[in-house]
Amino acid sequence: MSQPAIYYFDNNATTRVAPEVVDAMIPFLREYWGNPSSTYVFGRQVGEHLDQARARVAALINAEPRELIFTSCGTESNNSAIHSALVTQPEKRHVTTAVEHSANIKFCDLLQKRGYTVTFLPVAPDGALDLQQLEEAIRPHTAVVSVMWANNETGVLFPVREIAAICRRKGTLFHTDAVQAPGKLKIDVRELDVDFLSLSAHKLHAPKGIGLLYVKRRVKYQPYVVGGGQERGRRGGTENVANIVAFGRAAELATANLSDENTRVRALRDRLEDGILGAIPGASRNGAREPRLPNTSNLAFDGVEAEGILMLLDQAGICASSGSACTTGSLDPSHVLTAMGCSAARARSSIRFSLGIYNTEVDVDYVLNHLPGIIAKLRASSPAGS
Ligand code: PLP
Repeated sequence: MSQPAIYYFDNNATTRVAPEVVDAMIPFLREYWGNPSSTYVFGRQVGEHLDQARARVAALINAEPRELIFTSCGTESNNSAIHSALVTQPEKRHVTTAVEHSANIKFCDLLQKRGYTVTFLPVAPDGALDLQQLEEAIRPHTAVVSVMWANNETGVLFPVREIAAICRRKGTLFHTDAVQAPGKLKIDVRELDVDFLSLSAHKLHAPKGIGLLYVKRRVKYQPYVVGGGQERGRRGGTENVANIVAFGRAAELATANLSDENTRVRALRDRLEDGILGAIPGASRNGAREPRLPNTSNLAFDGVEAEGILMLLDQAGICASSGSACTTGSLDPSHVLTAMGCSAARARSSIRFSLGIYNTEVDVDYVLNHLPGIIAKLRASSPAGS
């Protein structure tokens, strides 16, 4: 199957599996396919590789290997953390933000239907969270606070370390959805002092279908997926060995790539963003310039629908998106941009570029050469432009 050239700017949706990661996982599909829980050598040797991968992923976030639970995805990790906090505490209140990923928001909607009280904290027009408001929202009956680290649509960062400190003072458990952080931000769970942290391997150049939940030692944990005794009895289901090995290798590479992402990728993102804002009238950024992920740029284009822009970009081989891949296709404007006070029209005219380690200046210049013409063409053909 040959693939036409693509210019990939959707790394917050998913990332290319690194060739080094493919090489690391293939033996676990071809030769070492035993069950790691089996007692004979053929199974046990797989278990040893599993332990090695667990240690590598633990090193990425400065955790102990026993604090890790492998899951099927970031969504499962988020659901599991919140579920555990709510069933192990007598309290029935949960505090989160209005701009979380649907992996969190939809779970909260379900919790509300089941009788839990959920507070969705608002954000400012630049996407920032008011920490005093957060502190006031934590009541004696709050079981858990869940606040994402990096917003997948705008890249805006929340101060998770300060939020963890507030939760500690208030005696409330704290979970952070850090799915967009690895490879882009240094993650140190000891320094952050969080109780739960979610990751997803496909955002850092490993395959889809493998996630991670960090649970701080001594924090009570109630499994969400109940079955066999895997993951020390905390997540039933035979381990996805090849994917866990891949996650381990990707974790090693992510640590090595961190400075590249923060210098070269950031410079490419800024070249793209500044180039677009300079060349296209009526273009503007959504969300604060800083603090922000080094790879993400969310831009609005007055008077044009994102759907049309994305279609013409696609025809030119450019992959970008109008927000979360999980909600793309829905006719509703982005809940993140809406929570930031954007009008429905602005939210519908916004697109996200998210860069990654495989992007080059050639890719950026290709977009800069094509996008102004695309916007001009759409404006000329819209009823307002004619
Ligand atoms: N949380 C955030 C911030 C995300 O960006 C995503 C995926 O885009 C998820 C959670 C869900 O991760 P997964 O696709 O592994 O379920």
